[in-house]
Amino acid sequence: MSKPQASVTVVINSIAQAKKAQGIRVYNLSAGEPKLKTPEIVRKAAIKFVEAGDIPYPSPAGENVLRKAAVDRMARLYKTDYTTEECIITTGGKFGIYLLLEYLCGQNSPIKQNPNDEVSVMIPAPYWVSYPAIAKIMGGKPVIMKSTAKDGWKLTPEILRSSYNSSCKILFLNNGCNPTGIIYSRNELKALMDLAHELGLTVISDEVYSSLVYTDDEYVSCGSFTEYKDDIIVVQSASKSFAMTGWRVGFVMARKDIIEVLSALSTQSTTGVSLIVQHGAIGAFEHADEITTDVRVAMKRRRDVMMAAVKEFFNLDLPMPKATLYLWISLEDLNVHGVTDDEFCIRALEEANVATVPGSGFGQAGYVRLSFGAEEDDLHGGIAALAKFAKQFN
Ligand code: PMP
Repeated sequence: MSKPQASVTVVINSIAQAKKAQGIRVYNLSAGEPKLKTPEIVRKAAIKFVEAGDIPYPSPAGENVLRKAAVDRMARLYKTDYTTEECIITTGGKFGIYLLLEYLCGQNSPIKQNPNDEVSVMIPAPYWVSYPAIAKIMGGKPVIMKSTAKDGWKLTPEILRSSYNSSCKILFLNNGCNPTGIIYSRNELKALMDLAHELGLTVISDEVYSSLVYTDDEYVSCGSFTEYKDDIIVVQSASKSFAMTGWRVGFVMARKDIIEVLSALSTQSTTGVSLIVQHGAIGAFEHADEITTDVRVAMKRRRDVMMAAVKEFFNLDLPMPKATLYLWISLEDLNVHGVTDDEFCIRALEEANVATVPGSGFGQAGYVRLSFGAEEDDLHGGIAALAKFAKQFN
């Protein structure tokens, strides 16, 4: 197995943190998180649990109250029909994906004909950096499916069909998408689910940004295509929706037999998610509509601040990202030439103290991801500093 790759976003974020620790003012436009305090109600719920003092090992699939709250909310908002037994709480959505690929790419995978078969994992690009990295760690083979700005950065049935080969068993979808900020319509998803079914693919639908949609577009969960429920897995998270990134609470919703295996795998790794953070998350679900609205309103305002700064300092009118926390922009649009995205981002951090993430890490060279999850001060100042720095490449 090749050496596991550290995620590019995490690497850039840590260089930025190290600069900050030395007292240098860094404009951090790299973080994949809403920079907000976790709501007081959530903190209080966790503290109350800690103060009661009874903190045993968690049960492997998580607290039933939390599992139920998660599936009930999905059912109410997106018309899914998962039951409590069809949900496991994981250490963030990321570890949910890790466990899923450990199982689905492993020796006992239910989607392999023979234990030694290779599992190819179909990944639309630009992609969240961790999909191919985790697939490789688990012995899977990433099959990258490129989309273009012309396709609106969306996977189409044509691209899916032409990328497919008989070793392909898993399809990742990321709706809203990190890094492009796009969301899929019901018709687009239906066409992809129909084709995935025809090709016998298990779909892992990463929906961790579902509550960060800023337009009137309907958010459609793949879990709402209940006719294909057996082959659709939904990954959710408390991280972005409740401003709880550091708490590490995620959810996998899938067939009961898959959840049972994931629970068994978690007993041999993390032993489940700390009850302290689970109780914080239970508090979050009790006030979920209120919290998600607050986070969304704050992030929408920051998106608008970033877009206004891009207009002011780069003289650019770009389409607004519909969802997530990211502006996905080409070096060409920034009028930057003669430098790769990696070089541009590293030098912007070293020379202008602006942290951004190069598109290459997401499978698309020549692009940069700017996060508007940052504090408002960072957004305006960061774009100003980036524009000044970028001038030398005009
Ligand atoms: N999926 C996507 C697309 C993400 O951007 C992230 C976080 N950056 C995750 C999953 C994982 O989130 P968490 O582990 O915090 O739930």
